[in-house]
Amino acid sequence: MAEPLKTVRELIQVTADYLAGKDVDSARLNAERMLGEVLGLARIDLYLNHDRPLTSDELDRYRTLVKRRAAGEPLQALLGETEFYGRSFKMTKGVFIPRPETERLIEVCVGKFTGGTSSLLSPLALEVGCGTGAIGCTLAAEIPRLQVIATDVNPQAVELSRVNARRLGVSARVEILEGSLCDPVAADLRGRVNLLVSNPPYIRSGDLPGLPREVRDHDPQEALDGGPDGLRFYHELARLAPAWLVPGGWLAMEIGFDQGDQVSAICAASDLEEIEVVMDYSKLPRVVIARVPDVLVQED
Ligand code: SAM
Ligand code: GLN
Repeated sequence: MAEPLKTVRELIQVTADYLAGKDVDSARLNAERMLGEVLGLARIDLYLNHDRPLTSDELDRYRTLVKRRAAGEPLQALLGETEFYGRSFKMTKGVFIPRPETERLIEVCVGKFTGGTSSLLSPLALEVGCGTGAIGCTLAAEIPRLQVIATDVNPQAVELSRVNARRLGVSARVEILEGSLCDPVAADLRGRVNLLVSNPPYIRSGDLPGLPREVRDHDPQEALDGGPDGLRFYHELARLAPAWLVPGGWLAMEIGFDQGDQVSAICAASDLEEIEVVMDYSKLPRVVIARVPDVLVQED
């Protein structure tokens, strides 16, 4: 006699135990998301359908996802989708998965451009290393009339960011260019940018082999490798800031939790001012923000 097909409830329980045994964090949530994907059901609807048996085709597709997850593929890559700052972004393999900590960088930037603090009609932001487009597209969605130009060396990231800008309805204000740092950006925008923002690669090269397997095996190396001391991109960004920003413009960068002092010193060496290290919600240093000096006031 054929084995009775498992129900939603049974499958979630069995998979949660199995994934937990494979050291997958939030194993039950992972099981629910994968089953929801296969059945086309939101998480809440799984529980309204908990006695539903799966067809053999659904079960096959589900088993394939579970096997890949157990082997260490990140959930976001399997689902082809990830959430950032309350919005859904398309994800493809070979592009860095946005992290929740990076939402702090968004909050800091939004704070500089909204409310009474900014009277700019149409501010311009330049992002270096856009990945999925999470930062640039979110800023465009959050800050009215913000224009964004974003670069990435990874052609897959460039393509994906364009797709995400369309999905979020901000493609008219977000331009994605392939190339390194600010190289592909039109030279006549030098000195006209209000915000230079980046979550650059900041892991020390020597630390890459010790990263958790999901990061090491799935985030592209060029998205993580910050050179021997992890600081390579901060030197570049602090050098670029005075050339591209308007007087009084902001440089905002995500940092590793132990890089606050060094990155602040790098900013100071480029004569940036109002340097501040901002903590994330785990009380760890996560963002450095600094400003190009405003037009010099001559003293008598
Ligand atoms: N901004 C995205 C986010 O926060 O999710 C991606 C950040 S990821 C840590 C760093 C990104 O920088 C990767 O997409 C990588 O391809 C890109 N990158 C690396 N070197 C670069 C360079 N020289 N110029 C521009 N982008 C670069
Ligand atoms: N925070 C990332 C990690 O978890 C590193 C991101 C970066 O290099 N910008 O590995």
